[in-house]
Amino acid sequence: MSKTSRSNPSYSGRNEPSGAAARSTPRNTAKTAPSAAEDTRSAISTAETSQPQTEIRPKSTTHLKAGLYLVATPIGNLGDLTFRARDVLAAADVIACEDSRVTRRLTQAYGIDTPLISYHEHNAERVRPKIIERLKCGEAVALVSDAGTPLISDPGYKLVTAVIEANQEVTTLPGASAALCALVLSGLPSDRFMFHGFLPSKSAARLTALSELAEIPASLIFYESPRRLGDMLNDAQKALGDRPAAVARELTKMFEELRRGSLSELVTYYKENGAPKGEAVVIIGGADADAKNQEIDLDSLLTTALETQTLRDAVAEVVLKTALPKRQVYSRALDLTSEKT
Ligand code: SAM
Repeated sequence: MSKTSRSNPSYSGRNEPSGAAARSTPRNTAKTAPSAAEDTRSAISTAETSQPQTEIRPKSTTHLKAGLYLVATPIGNLGDLTFRARDVLAAADVIACEDSRVTRRLTQAYGIDTPLISYHEHNAERVRPKIIERLKCGEAVALVSDAGTPLISDPGYKLVTAVIEANQEVTTLPGASAALCALVLSGLPSDRFMFHGFLPSKSAARLTALSELAEIPASLIFYESPRRLGDMLNDAQKALGDRPAAVARELTKMFEELRRGSLSELVTYYKENGAPKGEAVVIIGGADADAKNQEIDLDSLLTTALETQTLRDAVAEVVLKTALPKRQVYSRALDLTSEKT
């Protein structure tokens, strides 16, 4: 099993925007309704950022058209808010958020004073029509969740469908999402993947849900609470077999960690070490992690690695590259070296 754990190099890790000149700027609330003929994207295209952005302070010249703006926010590192997201949050008439305490930390760090309203699973039915009404009156409403991309295991789907039905504008400001961060770091195939989000919390229902995914030839992405991680990995092994997998924890934060290995190795690790802290994403290899292809790739990867490295280092490198079980890679490396002699 391999593990990458490091202090995130891209940022100080203190979760503050660099040089945060948290000054408050008057918001420009002038809105222009897009013409019906305009393409949605250009009609709602935001933040006239004609000048390069060199400071954290929102630009007072930002001018927003009416519509719903789905704004991705950082998943743990405040520096991951995009310039455009910052400008739109500063210029919107209102920010609809899950937990105002969480969003206020973000807006305060960037000197944004846009009013906040709550939009979460418990008040969504009541608040949704009010948001639609605001859009019809020409307002720009930004939707954020506590972290990452709204609608991805977070509120917003029903709001977007309501906005579309009401013939109002909607656009997105892309940014962080834990699912994609974990996938690209997992070492598992990224050409085809399926996002599942959270599995049921009870084992029987979880096993059923996992069995339904057993034939899918794509990497599988799950969100999981650290408390349930061990049980979830155990059920995944039962339902899917001993596939390569990875657990990504605390992504973009100071103690970001990627633990790669087979499901059985990960089950053993968390049994021995207990539930980890922080937030986690689990990636599991798809049904097409076909043994024959793996062996062909494995042979050529091992042969190349063994040309310049010791058996031990070559195995470690190939385990990292393939996320295959260490036992399997080691045994094949031994076969290859004995074939050579
Ligand atoms: N909308 C978010 C997104 O785009 O990633 C996800 C929200 S969902 C309610 C929260 C789950 O995302 C957590 O339980 C965890 O599984 C995952 N997550 C969020 N931030 C994470 C991070 N920094 N590291 C690892 N997983 C994270």
